[in-house]
Amino acid sequence: MDERDRQDSAAHTSATAGRAGVRAASLYVVATPIGHLRDITLRALDVLASAAVVYAEDTRVSSALLAHHGIARRPRSLNAHNETARTGEVIGALARGEDVAIVTDAGTPAISDPGARLVRAVRDAGHRVVPIPGPSAIVAALSAAGLAAAQFHFAGFLPAKAGERDARLAALARIDAAIVIYEAPHRIADTVAALAAALDPARTLVVARELTKAFETIAAMPVGEAPAWLAADPDRRRGEFVLIVDAPVSTDAPDAALGDALRWIDALAPEMAPARAAHVVARMTGAPRDALYAHALGRKRERAR
Ligand code: SAM
Repeated sequence: MDERDRQDSAAHTSATAGRAGVRAASLYVVATPIGHLRDITLRALDVLASAAVVYAEDTRVSSALLAHHGIARRPRSLNAHNETARTGEVIGALARGEDVAIVTDAGTPAISDPGARLVRAVRDAGHRVVPIPGPSAIVAALSAAGLAAAQFHFAGFLPAKAGERDARLAALARIDAAIVIYEAPHRIADTVAALAAALDPARTLVVARELTKAFETIAAMPVGEAPAWLAADPDRRRGEFVLIVDAPVSTDAPDAALGDALRWIDALAPEMAPARAAHVVARMTGAPRDALYAHALGRKRERAR
C-alpha cells in the first residue's frame, strides 16, 4: 500500500468504521495483463503482494502471473459460478480489517468478467472499494484504432443465438457512435458476417486480435469486406478479438438519442424486468421500445451467464 492509500484508508477508518480497534479494510479491484505479462502496474503488484487474501477467476492463471512477478501465493477462487457464495466470505474478511484483492484472468474485473456483484455487495456493506486501473482490451483496442468517432458504445459479447444477436445489431446500427464488441475465435466468422449484413457496408471495421501477444493484428477495412478478409487466412480467425465499428458516416440513418437511451437501459436493467425498463426508457427518451427491449433482454442474459 502506498502513502496515498494509507492516508485514504486512515480517513476512511475515521469516517466510516467506528468498530472498536478494527482498521477499515478495502476491496482492491486489480487490473491484470490481457496478454503480455509485464503489462501490470507497480501499484497492482504492491496490492497483490500485501492484501490478506487474493481472489482470482482461475487460480492457476493468476498464480502463474504472480509467480512471474516473484509473488509466491495461492489465490482463492472467485468466478461467475461462486461469486455470490464468496461474497459473505469477502465481507467477513473486510469486517476483520483484512484487505482483499480481486483479479480475473485478463484485464479489468467486472468488464465482461465477474466482479460487479461482489463490488456492489461490498459497497452496500459499507466497505471501501478501490480500483487499481490497468489493462482492458476495450481501451487497448480503441487506443490503436484511429477512430473518427468521438464516442463509443461498449456492447460486450453479442448474444449467442442468431435471432437475439440480429435484434441487438439492429439496435446498435442506429447509434451515432463507434461500437466495441468482444468476440471469441469460435464465433468470429459468424459475428463478422452478421455485422456485414446489419450495418452500412462502408463503415470501417477495426479487427484487433491477440492484443499485446506474439500474433497481435490490428487491421481496418470496410465492414462489407471483412467476411472475405477473415476467410482468406485461417490465422486471422484465431485468438481473442475486439471488433470496433467506427461511427456511421451518413447523417440520416443514425439516431443520436438511442445511444443515450441504451445507456439508460444499462443503468436500469439490473433493477427491473426488461419489459419494464424498456417501457420507462421509451417514455423518457422517445426511443423505440422494441430496440430498448432487445437490448435490456440481452443485458439480462449477460448477467445470468
Ligand atoms: N475483463 C477483460 C477486459 O478488461 O478486457 C475482458 C474479459 S472477457 C471474458 C474476454 C474477452 O476480452 C475476449 O473474448 C476478447 O474479446 C477480449 N480480449 C481479452 N484479451 C484480449 C486480447 N489480448 N486481444 C484481443 N481481445 C482480447
